Amino acid sequence: MRIAEMLARGRPTVSFEFMAPRDENEVAMVEKTIAALAGHAPDWVSVTYRKATGKKTLELVTRIKRQYHIEAMAHLTCANTADETRPILNWMEREGVANVLALRGDPPGPGQAFVPADPQFQHGSDLVAFLRRSGYRFGIGAACSAEKHPESPDQAYEFRYMQMKVDSGADFLITQLFFDNRFYFDLVRRAKEAGITIPIVPGLMPVPSRRSLAFMAAMTGATLQPDLARAIEEAPDDDAVRALGVRHCIEQCVELLEAGVPGVHFYTFNRARAPMEILASLRGQQLLTA
Ligand code: FAD
Repeated sequence: MRIAEMLARGRPTVSFEFMAPRDENEVAMVEKTIAALAGHAPDWVSVTYRKATGKKTLELVTRIKRQYHIEAMAHLTCANTADETRPILNWMEREGVANVLALRGDPPGPGQAFVPADPQFQHGSDLVAFLRRSGYRFGIGAACSAEKHPESPDQAYEFRYMQMKVDSGADFLITQLFFDNRFYFDLVRRAKEAGITIPIVPGLMPVPSRRSLAFMAAMTGATLQPDLARAIEEAPDDDAVRALGVRHCIEQCVELLEAGVPGVHFYTFNRARAPMEILASLRGQQLLTA
């Protein structure tokens, strides 16, 4: 089923992002996380893509669909040429993958430049447009930033290219992680004023540890409110950081759900505990149905 249809049902969806494992050590972790979170009734899930682990993404997406009967979306990036991309999409179509998240892809590290594999795939919108004009029937998602993307001079620049993804044929957008809901509400208001009607799903990360937070903040440009930054700084250990992260994410979700968001999408980093605690709280508050 197309994710855009689920997002239009008038009931907020719950979804999880899983990271395709990079090596055998990570396989057990991701399998355990999927099995644990599958029992918490997500409406859909997604699996990240890296060129080096692309086969694993495709394998996981199809297996989640078959084994757990959950709609699973494959991420795809501009890491491949058009000639390499077509067989991947053909394979997905044959295997019944219904949704693709079309992305440019991460640069090799914070502050480094992304190098496209094909001059025609420079940006997320190029992949969205390619999917549309090639006649594939996937539901198409794309990424956007509630806060300024690290490579953008300002939010207006960012917004222009978000619009380009919509004009190229994206069915829905998922935001990069953010910690202050005001960025999301501002983005949605501006999108509405610009006539953008497709759903914009907030992407949320319960802070897993100080180290992961520092890396993700550098990669995404996400900023912390001074109070939250101070509390994390002063937390005695990573358990306390994790607990703070869960509490903050619950507060974000409560406000977002009360404001009528189309869904809440969790970056799990292949850890089940935090999303499970968050969902239990939100369901306990009747903000989500099981
Ligand atoms: P783009 O839209 O290309 O944006 C990148 C920068 O270029 C932005 O500053 C944008 O404003 C600018 N820009 C966009 N279009 C143009 C244009 N036509 N001309 C000039 N500038 C332009 N990365 C992975 O490698 N694998 C994944 O599986 C993955 N999953 C993700 C899932 C989600 C929900 C999100 C939000 C991100 C994910 N990422 C993933 C990270 C993503 O690849 C990076 O955030 C990347 O920096 C941006 O991707 P994009 O598709 O928005 O790129």
